[in-house]
Amino acid sequence: MLENLIIIGSGPAAYSAAIYSNNVNPIILRGGYIGANGPGGQLTTTTNVDNYPGFPTGIQGPTLMENMYQHADSYKLRQTMETVTKISKSNGRFYVETDEGSYEAKSVIIATGASARRLNVPGTGENELWQKGISACAVCDGFFFKGKVVCVIGGGDSAMVEAEHLSLIATKVYVIHRRNEFRARPDNVERIGKFHNVEYLTPFVLQSAHGKDHLEYVKLKHSETGELMDLKVDGMFFGIGHDPNTQFLKAELSHILDGNSYIIANERMITEEPGLFACGDVTDQVYRQAVTAAGMGCIAGIEAAKYISTLK
Ligand code: NDP
Repeated sequence: MLENLIIIGSGPAAYSAAIYSNNVNPIILRGGYIGANGPGGQLTTTTNVDNYPGFPTGIQGPTLMENMYQHADSYKLRQTMETVTKISKSNGRFYVETDEGSYEAKSVIIATGASARRLNVPGTGENELWQKGISACAVCDGFFFKGKVVCVIGGGDSAMVEAEHLSLIATKVYVIHRRNEFRARPDNVERIGKFHNVEYLTPFVLQSAHGKDHLEYVKLKHSETGELMDLKVDGMFFGIGHDPNTQFLKAELSHILDGNSYIIANERMITEEPGLFACGDVTDQVYRQAVTAAGMGCIAGIEAAKYISTLK
C-alpha cells in the first residue's frame, strides 16, 4: 500500500507533526525499545518539565508525552512500535524499512530526536561496568541508588536534571564537570548547588571506572594540574549531551546530514530531498526544547500535507 505520509518518531515533534497532518492520514512509526530512548523520546526519561507553555506548575515529562500520544490517537491515526532501519528513495517514492517490515510512501517526516551520549573510557564498556552502576538516565535507573553515593558527569542542563533527581534518592551526589564554568542555566546551577547532598567537583575529567562486579570508584584527573584522584561512588550517570538518531539514513541519504550527523532542514523543515521533512532534536543543535520540537513538528506537518496535495 502506498502511504501518503510516514512520520518516524514519537516525541513532541512527531506528535505535533501528526496532529497538523492528520488530514492526509499519516502512519506513525513510534520506534521500539532499541537504543537509549524508547517510544516517547527523551521526555519519558525526565521528571518535571517547568517551561512547556500552558502548565504553570509544570508537568511530568512522561505525562506530557502520554497526553500527546492520546491527542494523536484522538484522530484515530495508525501508530506502530517499529524501529526504522533504513530509508531509500527511488522514482520519487520513499522506501522505509523497519525491524518488522517495509513501507512505501509519498513523503516522510523524520522526528527521531537524539539519544544520551556516553563517555568511552576504560571500565565503562558494555562488557565492563555499563549498567552495573553506570547509566545515562537517572530517572530510569536512579532508584537503584537509594542511600548510596553517586556522581553525574557533565555541566549542562541534562546533568543538572540528573543531579536534582538523584539528590532525592542518594545520600551524596557529586557533579563532575571538566570546566569551572557550567553550561547549564545559572539559576539551576546555583539552586542545586545549595542542596545539602550535592557537591560540584570541577575541573575534573573522568579517566576510568573501577569495580569487581559493580562500580566501586572512578578515577578523575584535574584538568589544570593533571593530578589524579580516586572517588568512591556506587553509581555514575552521564549527562554529557546527545547525538541525533540518524543512523538509518547513513546508507542511502547521508547527503542530508551535516558533519555532526544532524539532518539539514530549512526553516520550513524541508530537506534537500523533495518530500522528506525533518523536525525536532534530530535537526536542532541549538534549542533542543520540547516546545521548539513541537513547533517544528507543526511546520513539518503543514508542509508535508501541502507537498502531498501538490502531487498528481
Ligand atoms: P549540553 O551540550 O548543553 O551539555 C553537555 C555537557 O556535557 C557540557 O557541560 C559539556 O562540557 C559536557 N561534555 C560534553 N562532552 C563531554 C566529554 N567528552 N567529557 C566531559 N564532559 C563533556 O547538553 P545537555 O544535554 O545538557 O543539554 C542540551 C540542550 O537541552 C540544551 O539546550 C539544554 O538547555 C536543553 N535542556 C533543557 C532542560 C530543561 O530543563 N529546560 C533539561 C535538559 C536539557 P562543556 O560545557 O565543557 O562543553
